[in-house]
Amino acid sequence: MADFDAVIVGAGAVGLAAGYALAKRGQSVVLLERENSIGAGISSRNSEVIHAGLHYPTGSLKARLCVEGRRALYAFLEAHSVAHDKCGKLIVATEDSEIPALEDLFRQGEINCVEGVRRIDGAEARALEPQLRAVAALDSVESGVMDAHGYMLALEGEIEAHGGAIVLNTPFLGASPSNEGYDVRAGGEAPMTISTRRLIIAAGLGAQACARGIENFPADRIPELHLGKGNYFALQGVKAPFARLIYPPPIPGALGTHYRRDLGGVARFGPDLQFVDHEDYVVDPARAASFYETVRRFWPGLPDGALTPDYAGIRPKLHGPGEHQGDFVIDDSVENLTCLFGIESPGLTSSLAIGEEVARRLGV
Ligand SMILES: Cc1cc2nc3c(=O)[nH]c(=O)nc-3n(C[C@H](O)[C@H](O)[C@H](O)COP(=O)(O)OP(=O)(O)OC[C@H]3O[C@@H](n4cnc5c(N)ncnc54)[C@H](O)[C@@H]3O)c2cc1C
Repeated sequence: MADFDAVIVGAGAVGLAAGYALAKRGQSVVLLERENSIGAGISSRNSEVIHAGLHYPTGSLKARLCVEGRRALYAFLEAHSVAHDKCGKLIVATEDSEIPALEDLFRQGEINCVEGVRRIDGAEARALEPQLRAVAALDSVESGVMDAHGYMLALEGEIEAHGGAIVLNTPFLGASPSNEGYDVRAGGEAPMTISTRRLIIAAGLGAQACARGIENFPADRIPELHLGKGNYFALQGVKAPFARLIYPPPIPGALGTHYRRDLGGVARFGPDLQFVDHEDYVVDPARAASFYETVRRFWPGLPDGALTPDYAGIRPKLHGPGEHQGDFVIDDSVENLTCLFGIESPGLTSSLAIGEEVARRLGV
């Protein structure tokens, strides 16, 4: 008999959602987290935006899991009284040359079965958001913002209520196949070996390193990791100008530097996309110049000196600069093992659906 039905590596939004999906099916589950709290990785350094699902290519995991995940997420947040605001999103064209990109997004939204999207002209966009500069926009009412940490605490509560456990300060060191599934080696103050029927790697930026530690996982199935840093600037001394999320048309590799008003009323702009070669979360104040330029395209009223460096997050990208942006990778090619790679945006929105997908693929 194995000690557990499932060991999950990583207690970010995705590992917690996978733990919830398995625990509620009656599986005995333990999550190993190397940091001293849950959600200390990418899940704490993002935009906390609930995406409707317009942006993702036909038939991709991102398209399906974002739409399914978003629907499940709103229901979960409601049921667990986690703060969120379905404030809506305007994706704006600020010049005529950007209108075809909006048309493409609108059609992609229809293909992806995204509810509540309509085309509006510049006058209607300004009627909704008087400080906005736009010649046309898509109005997506299903988009919103959420308290990501509150969400992860609620998932932790669900896992524990179903008999599961989350062990902090416990890095995954490696795993060997066994008769039952896997023997998992964990470090920390009390190093141990745990036997499990199934192993799930949901380690965000650490996924590739974890996969390299699994004896029977083929090295050629481990995708190269690229670090896509996203910097944010906060608005200081000026009232948040818009109630809705404001996005430009997407840029290659990301959704584009956007505006959001968080649940505390703070207005922020970001993230941009900066490929880096090591994890570094410092925001270079010199990047402000490009933020002023980008933001003033849709908000000409941004005063000089109002942007201040805020925070940064790093996307676990599977493509480098100028390369095609790929899909989430959920690798289930080895029996009893699921490795998640490249869970960048919309990974937070998709997390509950990713958890369900992991459970389904493991046949639980
Ligand atoms: C700048 C930015 C903006 C984003 N904005 C959005 C957004 O608005 N909406 C959206 O839907 N998505 C967004 N995303 C994507 C979203 O944040 C991620 O997809 C999601 O948080 C990934 O969760 P995760 O659990 O896979 O990773 P993480 O949250 O990083 O969790 C992985 C965990 O594994 C742990 N770990 C790593 N190695 C080991 C090991 N060896 N042993 C034990 N534990 C280990 C880490 O400590 C970490 O806690 C954004 C991402 C970024 C970077």
